[in-house]
Amino acid sequence: MTEHAVVIAGGGPTGLMLAGELALAGIDVAIVERRPSQDVAGSRAGGLHARTLEVFDQRGIADRFLAEGQKAQANGFAGVHFDLSGFPTRHPYSLGLRQKHIERILAGWVDELKVPIYRGIDVTGFAQDDTGVDVELSDGRRLRAQYLVGCDGGRSLVRKAAGIAFPGSDPTTSNLIAEAELAETPPEWGIRRDALGIHALGRVEYEIRNGEIVYADHGPVGVLVTEQHVGQTTEPTLRDLSAALIAVYGTDYGIHSPTSISRFTDAARQAAAYRSGRVLIAGDAAHVHPPDGGQGLQTGVQDAVNLGWKLAQVVKGTSPESLLDTYHAERHPVGARVLRNTMASIVLRREDERTKALRDTIAELLGMDEPRRRFAAMLSGLDIHYDLGEGHPLLGRRMPDLDLMTASGPLRVFTLLHDARPVLLNFGEPGSFDITPWADRVTVIDAKSEGTDVTIWELPALGAVAAPVAVLIRPDGYVAWVGDVTQLGLADALTTWFGPPRAA
Ligand SMILES: Cc1cc2nc3c(=O)[nH]c(=O)nc-3n(C[C@H](O)[C@H](O)[C@H](O)COP(=O)(O)OP(=O)(O)OC[C@H]3O[C@@H](n4cnc5c(N)ncnc54)[C@H](O)[C@@H]3O)c2cc1C
Repeated sequence: MTEHAVVIAGGGPTGLMLAGELALAGIDVAIVERRPSQDVAGSRAGGLHARTLEVFDQRGIADRFLAEGQKAQANGFAGVHFDLSGFPTRHPYSLGLRQKHIERILAGWVDELKVPIYRGIDVTGFAQDDTGVDVELSDGRRLRAQYLVGCDGGRSLVRKAAGIAFPGSDPTTSNLIAEAELAETPPEWGIRRDALGIHALGRVEYEIRNGEIVYADHGPVGVLVTEQHVGQTTEPTLRDLSAALIAVYGTDYGIHSPTSISRFTDAARQAAAYRSGRVLIAGDAAHVHPPDGGQGLQTGVQDAVNLGWKLAQVVKGTSPESLLDTYHAERHPVGARVLRNTMASIVLRREDERTKALRDTIAELLGMDEPRRRFAAMLSGLDIHYDLGEGHPLLGRRMPDLDLMTASGPLRVFTLLHDARPVLLNFGEPGSFDITPWADRVTVIDAKSEGTDVTIWELPALGAVAAPVAVLIRPDGYVAWVGDVTQLGLADALTTWFGPPRAA
């Protein structure tokens, strides 16, 4: 039986990101993926939000996405548009880039890291014991792994076979999404709302000019249409699409030659546990919700970045298995918040008088600076705060990508995270931190921050906070300890996050 330290079921965005994180940490990881190639059928995610771009920047791969996408201010809630310009991040925007391109770029990175992918094969079952998991494949083979991670999407076989409950709400709306040709050009492109819900027509190819979407003047069309009834169980057809368009627009514009037609609903469900023994789940396997706000792929990629380094340390034996419980503790609340804001978006989609009054009321609140800043930070993922206890406001929050001056010259904080190792950044007296018992795991850097006012740091949701003397940064870019030369609590934080000290 072939062995790997970790087997990932599903090579979508979450599985690819997790594989990259584990490979960077030197773990023998393999992906089993049902699709024979990385091609994505149909439309799914349309881009990346600021924190996901930062996460890619932390690994030195953001430029690959930026080179192909288009920057846009694409965040909003209740019809209110958020402009992130001026936000304290190097990526104060979203990036328009279709999921098929996001996956292709991620797969290229994973390929460079030499992760094997068993393609065209399903995980069909597994059995876990005290030392590992036997993973059954659709071609009759079996793989043995210390851990199995289900990144196998909303209908996750891994989640179901692990017996993990998936509580939540059933659908109240059903949408068809398709790419096809239209014989007639509609009088206008863009979004339409009515009592049924939201609908949209637009050329697949577009450009962002001066912040506005400008559709190509020819080529296939992306169609989004709300269906009249919820609960269809058959695969959607061209006939269903045509009927749904006629019900809304009075015509189907001669729709023909679809390259994809799929259905999605506003069902919102979240796994009760992200781990069951040696089996973990991440991404859509752990949470499904409506696509409003474009948060699904982002949440999955960030689940992977939270889990990757922890799982790597447990596999290496440098940290106890209990470190894996912090994955659920930190990421379940983030997923729950995404479910909450997408469910609220669905209610606000409706067009009746009372809903419109509610939307206008929320829009009025979001017209105020503070709520607007907080919502923009939430939807872009920049405000994520893991509960690591009381302390400096940076604790559990993302480390800002400061410009630094170090002994080896100027560099950015995110550059220090490219190889996914923890970093202790000392802004105080050089050489004042000696963490020899963790030196094999944690890099210490003496630095000065560059900038006009080095005594404060700007955080997206909070604003200015006092610059600390030293910070311990986890491989996922979140701050695990804040302190000064007294080093109070540092040894505990190092042990909690990166394992016990090595004996001299
Ligand atoms: C219409 C629509 C629009 C969306 N828009 C956005 C957006 O703008 N922004 C955003 O962030 N998100 C968006 N999303 C959500 C986004 O597409 C998903 O959240 C994202 O794809 C989840 O990634 P994943 O890797 O967790 O799961 P998936 O992308 O579902 O990947 C799961 C993978 O597992 C494979 N697989 C499944 N079962 C098995 C098995 N048993 N064995 C082996 N392989 C298996 C599948 O082939 C697939 O490759 C949208 C979704 C929809 C439907």
